[in-house]
Amino acid sequence: MKLTADYHTHTIFSHGTGTILDNAMVAKQNGLMELAITDHGHGHTVYGIRSKKVPYMKSLCEDATNQTGVKVILGVEANILGVSGKTDMKEIDMENMDIYLAGIHKLITYDKLKEWYLLFAKNFNARHFFKPSESLIKRNTQVYINAIKNNPIDILTHPGFCAFINAYDVAKCCEDYGTIFEIDARKKHLEDDEWESVLKTNVNFVIDSDAHSPEKIGVLGQAESLIERVGIPTDRILNIDGKLPKNMRFQEYKRKM
Ligand SMILES: [Zn+2]
Ligand SMILES: [Zn+2]
Repeated sequence: MKLTADYHTHTIFSHGTGTILDNAMVAKQNGLMELAITDHGHGHTVYGIRSKKVPYMKSLCEDATNQTGVKVILGVEANILGVSGKTDMKEIDMENMDIYLAGIHKLITYDKLKEWYLLFAKNFNARHFFKPSESLIKRNTQVYINAIKNNPIDILTHPGFCAFINAYDVAKCCEDYGTIFEIDARKKHLEDDEWESVLKTNVNFVIDSDAHSPEKIGVLGQAESLIERVGIPTDRILNIDGKLPKNMRFQEYKRKM
C-alpha cells in the first residue's frame, strides 16, 4: 500500500517545522501526486493561521507546484468550536482554499466559557479521572454531526481525538454528507471495536500523515497496522495505490457560492 496524496500536513505557518516547499519536496521524493498544506485554523490560541497570510501561502503552494511537479493545494485544519458545530474557517479565506479539513483540538479560543467546559473540560476529566458518561458521548457525537451537517467539510480529522464519541453515528453522518473519515497515520484515536463499528457504515476514508515535519509526509505510520488488524477494505481508502478522491464537498460548495 502506498499513498497517492497526503491531505493533512502542517508547516511553519502553524506548528510544523518545514516550509511549504520542504513539504512538497518530500512529497515528490515519496512519489505523491497531490499534497495539501493544512495548518491550524485561526481559533488555535498559539498556532492558528492569520488571514492576512493566506494569499501568500497560496502563492507559495503555486511556486511549490511549479518547482516539484506535485500538485500542492491549500487548505486549513479548522477547529470545531462548540456544540453548534461551528468551525473557525473564515469566509474571507475560502477564496484561496482548495480543501476543508476540520477536527476537535485542545488550546482553542471558544466563543463562550460554557463551550470550553462542555467540549474540553468534560472530555479532559473523562480521560483522566472518570469514565465518559452516556450524555458526554451523546453530546460529543452531536458536535461532530452538527459540524458535518453545517459545513462543507471534506475530511474529518482524527475522529475521537479529545472527545469520546459514538463512532458509528459520526461515520454514518460522514457517509450521508460526503465527508471523508480520516485514518490518522500518527496516532490511534479510536479503539479497534470502534473502528469495526465505523466499518458497518459505507463511509470512505483517506490516510493522512498529519505530518508536523517534512520527513513524515506520505508516511503510513500506524495506519498500516490498523488497516490490517481491523480489516479496513482498501477499496474504500481513496488516496492510495494511484487513486485520488473525486467530487470533494468543499469544491462543490465553492462552485455554488
Ligand atoms: Zn488535528
Ligand atoms: Zn493536524
